[in-house]
Amino acid sequence: MRISEITRETLDVTLLRKKPGHKYEHGHALVLSGGPGKTGAARMAARGALRIGAGAVTIGVPPAAQLEVAMQVTAIMLQRISDGAALIEALKDSRINALCLGPGLGLGARAAELVKSALSAPKVVLDADALSLLAQDSDLRAGLHRGCILTPHMGEFARLAPDLADAAEGEGQDAKAQATQAAAARFGCVVLLKGPETIIATPEGEIRRHRATEGRATPWLATAGAGDVLAGFITGLIARGVAPVEAASLATWLHAEAALTHGPGLIAEDLPDLLPQVLRQLN
Ligand code: AMP
Ligand code: MG
Repeated sequence: MRISEITRETLDVTLLRKKPGHKYEHGHALVLSGGPGKTGAARMAARGALRIGAGAVTIGVPPAAQLEVAMQVTAIMLQRISDGAALIEALKDSRINALCLGPGLGLGARAAELVKSALSAPKVVLDADALSLLAQDSDLRAGLHRGCILTPHMGEFARLAPDLADAAEGEGQDAKAQATQAAAARFGCVVLLKGPETIIATPEGEIRRHRATEGRATPWLATAGAGDVLAGFITGLIARGVAPVEAASLATWLHAEAALTHGPGLIAEDLPDLLPQVLRQLN
């Protein structure tokens, strides 16, 4: 994906030049955390959302993990969200305009309830465990809508749509892109298939590709947590009012640029803090 595939308006107006206004005019992202020992992924996603310019970010945490999260975040707020009903209640706050769930969420009953409730939100980024839960339950999948963004890697994609994953592995340069597009049409939302080449597709048939620069630092993105940060970047842009396909594209591009800025030795938690450097170069 070249920068020209991302509209100048998104880049200039939305990202680099914030309109005047108070923090909630720049959006409020809610990221759901898993339980004790599983909170790092949500913390990285939340930091990504904050760095990309969401005005406020809250982590929704089960009570048992509240202290663990509280000890490790500062600008990020915390809210107890123990089950699906609590999430529905939290979403009544009309300032919350983007939701992210899946990283570190787990696969148990609480997680499944949260995915079900999350689908009532207008804008939802579903990654990691949320994708595995969707794969297991056709009723959950039926709740997907146009405001959803699915961000699978190939393993998650194969669980969600085994037939399309087989097709993606097939012959031809476009097999992966066509499979991603078919998934977007099937699920009725944007699908972002991650890997050395990332494909972003819309239900209407638009396809965007991002090929990591060969031989440079982006293979260092194949590291634990990198995908969680990407989900956070997308969520932060959505909170700022960027359309799903545009948010997915811009976040993918910035994620790889941040990795290039760092070079070898990159770990996922570096990524959010590398963003200001990338943005300064664009300015
Ligand atoms: P995840 O598998 O969820 O941790 O996501 C990994 C992230 O790193 C995604 O954004 C991928 O597109 C990216 N990524 C993984 N492997 C590579 C690679 N070899 N080169 C460039 N980017 C990669
Ligand atoms: Mg992942």
